Amino acid sequence: MIKTSFHRTLSCKICDQEANYVFNSTILKKYEISYFQCTNCKYLFTEKPFWLEEAYKEPINISDTGLVERNIYLSKITSRVLFYLFDHEGTYLDYGGGYGLYVRLMRDIGFNFLWDDIFTTNLLSKGFEFSNESIELLTCFETFEHLENPIIEIEKMLKISSNILFTTELYPEPMPSPENWWYYALDHGQHISFYNLRTLNFIADKFDLNIYSNGTNLHLFTSKKLNKYIWQMLISKRFLFILDKLMKRKLISKTWTDHIKAKSV
Ligand SMILES: [Zn+2]
Repeated sequence: MIKTSFHRTLSCKICDQEANYVFNSTILKKYEISYFQCTNCKYLFTEKPFWLEEAYKEPINISDTGLVERNIYLSKITSRVLFYLFDHEGTYLDYGGGYGLYVRLMRDIGFNFLWDDIFTTNLLSKGFEFSNESIELLTCFETFEHLENPIIEIEKMLKISSNILFTTELYPEPMPSPENWWYYALDHGQHISFYNLRTLNFIADKFDLNIYSNGTNLHLFTSKKLNKYIWQMLISKRFLFILDKLMKRKLISKTWTDHIKAKSV
């Protein structure tokens, strides 16, 4: 086992207050590393992640068998949020869009979605790369837990849009030990930042945004003041049929027009 230098406290990378050592764990089957939790905003993070180059040999980790199912599910839930709370004719961006699956799904539904990702190749939504268009809302799925410096990265996102719809699993209370929570992802070593609602509230306040969440894994930072009951209704499975029927009447799938465009390139 490879051990690294040990600290008792670190400064929180989100609120600058003191973060205490909470436990050790073994990442990538060989590095024993420490985790820290902020006493103020409850941000939970690993020591400086020196193992990332090794962890990202494959940008999309092979143990992520839920990738396709998650994207299909997200396309359904987020369609309703975008359609009913934002301008459905606006331009959207999937930030950290991976192979482009979600962008393709959203364009098939009828949203003008663009792709951006500095780490991955766009395989499924070629021709729809972001190039500084005005963005109504940015989606950012399964990325926040990968961020070494969340505040710096969120600032970059906010320069693109003041609305960020994102997923990351909030860590439960009481804080689970390393062997009792899959999301620590010790096997691939890419998850280094963990949040709870208090952390997200702190970030929202810092940037003068509102935060809406399902309390577990889907969250929205937005400059808009929303009715939280409408938000809850849109992300719940109730009323799905009626809402989706109304939405589908208005949206026109881009599958065919994108096909025509791709052929003419
Ligand atoms: Zn903090």
